[in-house]
Amino acid sequence: MSSNVVVIGGGAAGLAAALKASEEKCDVTLIERDSDVGGVLNQCIHNGFGLDYFKKNLTGPEFKEKLKEKVLSKSNIKIKSGAFVHSVEKDKNIVFIDRNGVNNLKCDSLVITTGAKERPFTSLGISGKRLSGIYSAGLAQKFINMMNLRPGNSALIVGSGDIGLIMARRLTLEGVKVEGVIEIMPYPGGLQRNIKLCLEDFSIPLYLSRAVKYVDGDRRVNKIITTKVDDKFNHIGGDDITFNVDTLVSSVGLVPNVKPFEFLEHSAGFSTTNKNRTSENWIFSAGNSTVVFDLVDYVAQEGEKAGYMAALQAKNDLSPAGKIKLLPGKNIGILYPSYIEKDYESKIYLRARQPMEKGVLLIPELGIEKEFEDIKPSEMIKIKVPAFDKNTDRIEVNLNELK
Ligand SMILES: Cc1cc2nc3c(=O)[nH]c(=O)nc-3n(C[C@H](O)[C@H](O)[C@H](O)COP(=O)(O)OP(=O)(O)OC[C@H]3O[C@@H](n4cnc5c(N)ncnc54)[C@H](O)[C@@H]3O)c2cc1C
Repeated sequence: MSSNVVVIGGGAAGLAAALKASEEKCDVTLIERDSDVGGVLNQCIHNGFGLDYFKKNLTGPEFKEKLKEKVLSKSNIKIKSGAFVHSVEKDKNIVFIDRNGVNNLKCDSLVITTGAKERPFTSLGISGKRLSGIYSAGLAQKFINMMNLRPGNSALIVGSGDIGLIMARRLTLEGVKVEGVIEIMPYPGGLQRNIKLCLEDFSIPLYLSRAVKYVDGDRRVNKIITTKVDDKFNHIGGDDITFNVDTLVSSVGLVPNVKPFEFLEHSAGFSTTNKNRTSENWIFSAGNSTVVFDLVDYVAQEGEKAGYMAALQAKNDLSPAGKIKLLPGKNIGILYPSYIEKDYESKIYLRARQPMEKGVLLIPELGIEKEFEDIKPSEMIKIKVPAFDKNTDRIEVNLNELK
């Protein structure tokens, strides 16, 4: 078996990549481990997807169906679902397992769009018993939205990122009494619109600078003791709040899924250039397997670019240019991509380390200086940089607060 371009993972990034590569007249095989494509979109039944990409306010499943419809209309895309990629060999052989057993698929170029996985609650090292009633937010969401199961009667949400906020609302709508959302940082982790729509509209309290101290219960959670933290996250005694709930929903972040492709350069996610190229010239990556994006629109746009580049690579139309390291400087939390190939335009995405009323983004090597207002770590800042021919071996990005 062989295909010009293989795409691993059929979420928003993978569907967009397959589509774009097929438009470049390549034979494409899309491999997805689940029974259907769509990835995390399938369980996100709330709206807020596609405002930029489709210019419509869609739910996750609607966004997926619109992309999938386009993919299905292409005769040069084959979808293999229920197929798990076990390994990628350096001679461009993809090994995947499906109901027929172990299969080999040769390709000219590859796009990896394997998304992100949830950071488990156990990674927080919180003391307490091994009790039932502790769920990751994604699992609780899957139970409610896809399996029609209610995970408990009363809940505390740990983590105020968008997923935690959306789950607070969803659980409330399903009749679960959500007693609050706690957040270890002194500011909320999610988008402002979600604070309003998911917490304020349902009178769900948000507790900032607060962490779980102990989880108690008898086989099932019945008590969660929380405490105030200082700016170094040390527990401060004397201000404990106990929540008498039977469910803890942990929403403490996503981590790009780089397994089983760790032979590629990665930090949290795959390190890619602005052409979505990884440390192997013939392998590209996009979406949450590179960095956790806040909006699916960015994921799909990056997926399209990765598919386009992979198609050029498959046709031997993409010559590797020198890579310039993009370095996070002052106040920069997350920065994407990791490298710039200077003969092509870039979209640089970043997250600030802390909220700022006003800040100036400085990229001295490229002469960029741009002011932003109301900066929040939860909302990515995006800037376009045209191709350039200046000689430099590093580009540093800084965000200075303006008082
Ligand atoms: C709860 C939640 C709410 C969100 N709300 C919004 C919102 O309101 N608006 C918005 O714009 N965005 C929202 N997002 C963000 C957006 O949904 C995601 O950024 C986007 O869908 C991620 O797409 P992806 O293709 O990178 O990853 P995924 O959707 O995770 O897709 C990865 C795919 O790869 C497959 N895969 C992984 N490993 C293998 C393997 N070895 N072999 C085969 N297949 C494999 C997986 O099964 C999966 O289908 C939300 C995300 C979450 C989790």
